[in-house]
Amino acid sequence: MDDDLANVAPGQSAGQPHESGETRPDGSDGSFRSGFIAVLGRPNVGKSTLVNRLVGQKVSIVSDHPQTTRRRISGVVNGPTFQVVLLDLPGFQRPFDTLTRRMQAAIDTALAEVDGALFVLSAAEPIGGGDRFIANALTASSLPSVVVLNKVDAVPARTLPDKLQRARELVGGQDVWPVSALRGEGLNELIVELAAALPPGPRYFPVGQTSDQPLHQLVAELIREKALQLTREEVPHAIAVEIESLEEIRQRSLVEIDAHIVVEHDSQKAILIGKNGAVVKAIGTAARREIEAILGVRVFLGLRVKVRRHWRRDEGYVERQL
Ligand code: GDP
Ligand code: MG
Repeated sequence: MDDDLANVAPGQSAGQPHESGETRPDGSDGSFRSGFIAVLGRPNVGKSTLVNRLVGQKVSIVSDHPQTTRRRISGVVNGPTFQVVLLDLPGFQRPFDTLTRRMQAAIDTALAEVDGALFVLSAAEPIGGGDRFIANALTASSLPSVVVLNKVDAVPARTLPDKLQRARELVGGQDVWPVSALRGEGLNELIVELAAALPPGPRYFPVGQTSDQPLHQLVAELIREKALQLTREEVPHAIAVEIESLEEIRQRSLVEIDAHIVVEHDSQKAILIGKNGAVVKAIGTAARREIEAILGVRVFLGLRVKVRRHWRRDEGYVERQL
C-alpha cells in the first residue's frame, strides 16, 4: 500500500516542495492558490481513503464500518502553485444519538468555514437519499465544488458511462471525475481540479506538515482503526480510545504509550479482549507497527479495555471525543 502511494500526484504530496520550473497545474496566472476543502459524502464511499491518497500519507483512518471518521481531520496537499487543505468530515447521517447530532453540527459548521467542497460518490452503490441530501446542501451553500465518482475499480467498465451520467444529473450537470482512491487512479487530474477551485491565498501549513492532528489524536485514531478492523461488525460505534500517557524516551529512541479502549458494555469488552486476550493483543500489535512506521522509533504500547456505560449519551464525553 505504502509503495504505490508514491504514484499519487508526483511532486505534489507534502514534503516534496517544487517551487519553480513546473507547469502551472491550475492554468492560472501563476498566483498562489490555497484553501480549505470539505470532503463530503455519505458513509463508506471512501472519503478517508481518498484523503490519505491525495495527501500521500495516512492522516485519516479507514474501515468498512460506516462512520468511522468521528473527528474532523485535515490533510494537506502541496503543489508548486497551490496548497489544498482537505477536511475529512464525519459522514452525513440522520441524527439518532448525541454523537451523530454532533457530527451533523460539525458538518454544518465546516460548510460555513470552507472555500470549497469535494463531493465523493461511490460507483459501487446506487445514488441514494444521503447523496441527494448532500447535493442539496452543496447547492444551497453555493460553494465551488468538485465531484468524484469513487470505487470505479469495483464495477464493470461498461456500467461506468451510465453511472457517470446519473452522477452528473445529481449535481446539476457539473463534471464528475471517475477515480479509484484504492488504486490511486484519476487523482492527478483531481488535484488539478481542486487547485483550480481555490481562491488566491497563502501557504497555511509549512511544506512537510501533512496534518494538523496532534500526535495523541493520531495514535488514538490508529488504535481505534485497528480495533474496528479486528472486531468487524460487533462493536462498531461504541469504541473510543483514550491516551493515558504518551512519553518519548529519547536516550532509547522509544515512545511509551498507555491507552484505553473504552466501550459501553461488558459484552463489548469481552469481544475486544477475546480469548486469552488474543483480540486486544492483535489490536495492540497492529497499532504499534503502524505507529512505529509513522514515528520511525520503537513503540511500547500498553493497551487495556474499559467499560464506560452509555458514553455516547454523555455530552461532555462526546465533546472531548470530537
Ligand atoms: P469513508 O467512510 O467515506 O471515509 O470511507 P473509507 O475511506 O473509510 O472507506 C470505506 C471502505 O471503502 C473501505 O473498506 C475502503 O477500503 C473502501 N474503498 C475506499 N476507496 C475505494 C476504491 O476506490 N475502491 C474500492 N474498491 N474500495 C474503496
Ligand atoms: Mg472516513
